[in-house]
This record gives sequence, C-alpha cells and structure tokens, in this order.
Amino acid sequence: MAINAPEGTKDLLPNEALFWTQFQAKAGEVFGRYGYAPIATPIVEQTDLFVRGIGEATDVVSKEMFTALSGENLKRLLEGGKVKSKSRLSLRPEGTAGVVRAVVQHDLVPQGSAPAKLWYAGPMFRAERPQKGRQRQFHQVGVECLGAEAPTIDAEAIIMLMRFFAEVGIPADAMTLLINSMGCESCRPAYRDAVKAYMDQHADELCETCLTRAQVNPLRAFDCKNADCAAVMEGAPRITDHLCPDCKEHYAQVKALLDAAGVNYTEDSKLVRGLDYYTRTVFEVQVDNGLGSQNAIGGGGRYDKLAEEVGGRNTPGLGFALGYERCVLALEAAGVEMPQAGGCDLFVAFVEQAGQAPAFNVVQQVRDAGFSAEMDHQGRSVKSQFKLANKLGARYVITLGPDELAAGKATLRNMQTHEEVEVPLDQVPENL
Ligand code: AMP
Repeated sequence: MAINAPEGTKDLLPNEALFWTQFQAKAGEVFGRYGYAPIATPIVEQTDLFVRGIGEATDVVSKEMFTALSGENLKRLLEGGKVKSKSRLSLRPEGTAGVVRAVVQHDLVPQGSAPAKLWYAGPMFRAERPQKGRQRQFHQVGVECLGAEAPTIDAEAIIMLMRFFAEVGIPADAMTLLINSMGCESCRPAYRDAVKAYMDQHADELCETCLTRAQVNPLRAFDCKNADCAAVMEGAPRITDHLCPDCKEHYAQVKALLDAAGVNYTEDSKLVRGLDYYTRTVFEVQVDNGLGSQNAIGGGGRYDKLAEEVGGRNTPGLGFALGYERCVLALEAAGVEMPQAGGCDLFVAFVEQAGQAPAFNVVQQVRDAGFSAEMDHQGRSVKSQFKLANKLGARYVITLGPDELAAGKATLRNMQTHEEVEVPLDQVPENL
C-alpha cells in the first residue's frame, strides 16, 4: 500500500513551495525595514522549555505537543526505565519560546544594549484535530523584540504586521485587527480572581472544560466555542476595568500611536490568546472570508516575564506569529493569483541526434547568462518537443536542424508575438 503524508500535514508542491519562499523573502524585506534580522532555531527543543515558557496548563502544551525521542530512549521508556529531562524533546509548537531561549543562551541583549529584533520562519507542530486552516504541521513567520518596554515597540510591530499582510496582497478591508491589554503581574492576578469568582457564580451554565478552566486558567474560558459559555462570558468582568495605572497608560499610548499611524483596530476585552506568557498588549488579525472558524491569520503580544521564565534575566519582550497556510486561504478567497513554479525563457529543440550536443551547449550558455532554459531529455519527436516548450511556457524557442547546424545560425522565435530573428548560435543570450 502506498504511504501518504501523515494526517494533518501537507506537501508544499512546487507552486506552493515557490510561494512559501517568496512569502519568507517578503517578510525579510518588510521586517528588515524595521530593523529585524533573521534567526533560525532548532525545530526540536527540550520539552521543559515549552512547559516553562508557554505554560503547562495551556492546550498547546498539555494536549498538542509532539514528543520526540531517540530510538534508544524510546526503548528505555518502553522497558520502564527513565529518560533524562534533557533528552525529552518536543517538536516546537510555536517559535517564541525557542527564540527567547536563544536570546538568553547567547546573551543577545546584554545590559544597556539595543533591543534584539529578530524574525524567523518555519514549520510548527501541534497535534490538533485537522480541519480547514488547522494542520498538525503548519508554517509560521514571526518576530520577537527583546529588551525594550516602550509602547512604541508594540505599535511598530502591529503596524509592521499590517504592512506585511498588505504587501503580500491581503486586502485591507478583508482584515480586522483586534487589540486588548492583558495587564501585568501586579493587576492580572486580581482580575483572574474576579473572573474566577464570576465563573463560580455561573458554574451551572458552563461546560465541563470551562469548569476546569475556572480552577486552572479562568481567562481561557473567553475562548470557549460553546455558545452557552460564550453568553456567560459576555457578562464577565473586563480586564480593561482592572488595569493598573501603568498598564492603562501603556495601553493608551499604544492606541494613540496606532491612531496617529491611521491603523484601524477594534478593542476586544475578551481577546486573551492561547498562550500563558502574554502581558499587556495582545493583538490578533482576523479575516472574515474564506477561513471558516479558523479565521485568525496572525497575532501576538507582549511577554515581559518570558525571558525570566526560561532562566534569563528580566528582559521585556514582544512578538507575533502569522500562519502561512491561513494567509494562502485568505489570498485565494480574495482572488489573488498565486505564482507558477517553473517557467522557461528559452526552449531549444533539435531535429536529429546530431543536434543534441549543440542544443545542450546553447542551453548552458543561456543559463550562464542568467536566463532559464530547457531542452528535451527523453528522445521526443520535434513535434512533441514543441508541445513541451508550450507546456513549460517558453518565451522563446530555437530549433536546431541540419541546416542551422551547418550555418551556425538559428531562428529565435518569440512565442508570444511570433516574431522571428536569425541569431548566431554563439550569441543566443544577447538576443533574448
Ligand atoms: P499562535 O501561535 O497560536 O498565536 O498562532 C499564530 C498563527 O499561526 C495563527 O494566527 C494562525 O494563523 C497560525 N496557526 C496556529 N495554529 C495553526 C494550525 N494548527 N494550523 C494552521 N495554522 C495555525
């Protein structure tokens, strides 16, 4: 029986892989204008990093992580033995924890230095139930800025995210930017308690999962898809009424900067996002069309305690991640045309076997001059070579028959205009 790609994973076939490459290049270009440099961290990290960084009680860590074990360690575990915590690895479910770990490990923000502004792109893994816009291996592009606390960093990252979406072609009117503040360690605990107390009063109206959430992580209940829970949570205390003066001021400044930049946003005090590490500003971009229930194309926020959580010194941070596959769905829904892989500037056809080596020679010359070129490698008839040239979308075709070889010249045919010019065989690139 043939073996297919695992459930929830997808091959990026050439057109898609080409777009993924262009998408990353665009990210590097846009983010580079804001001072962000690329970073690449391992796809596997110690499981402890995610447990400590993202939070044990989050869905991502408690249910959705793929664990990776060497064959030797797996055998040890199956035989009832123990595996050192250092050898317990997980496939990364998101990029922030790994980047912050790298910043701490390599001391990328020594005291008094400029903030580290980093961007990354790559696959992430979550064992979720696959559906439209939700895969087990998906691709994210993200940024992290460590070492700066000012609201200008929050506003600039949000503006940069919206610029990136616009530059890849997602129509501005298809997107909604939601923002909120999650408070900090001084105001959030009291708010959490207020939400918990509210949920306790409404316990008989909440689903089983939310009853557990009320004990472990009450704010997660704002994300419950159950309609009854959603109705109850509509009446829950709002974080914006519980922010301490510093958080209130920070949030006000972020909004003022966005207003001044002409960025439209909607305040959503129920926006809590799925990961534990967020403090103060959080944001999410949703697309109304083409995505169904998985309508968030990107989001992020501030995480001023995360560096300490993973063993570093107190370093404020902020980041976002956007989902590549969901951006593709949004672009398709907006009717944006995707690039086509392949394409060919010149196809060199040959009539007889004697033409094969000269054709090969012309093709190499043209490639060395920076054009794409192709020829037949399967013994096709001339007619079938022309068909292949059409299929490849060749802009020009040259045909080498005995006459052309004898004269050292050939006819270069423009496939769009049907114009023909005679060119010496050693000067083909100059005529393309
Ligand atoms: P998160 O790390 O959960 O904040 O996700 C950031 C972005 O990654 C989301 O807005 C989605 O666009 C994308 N994303 C998250 N989980 C998945 C998934 N399972 N499949 C596809 N895209 C995802």
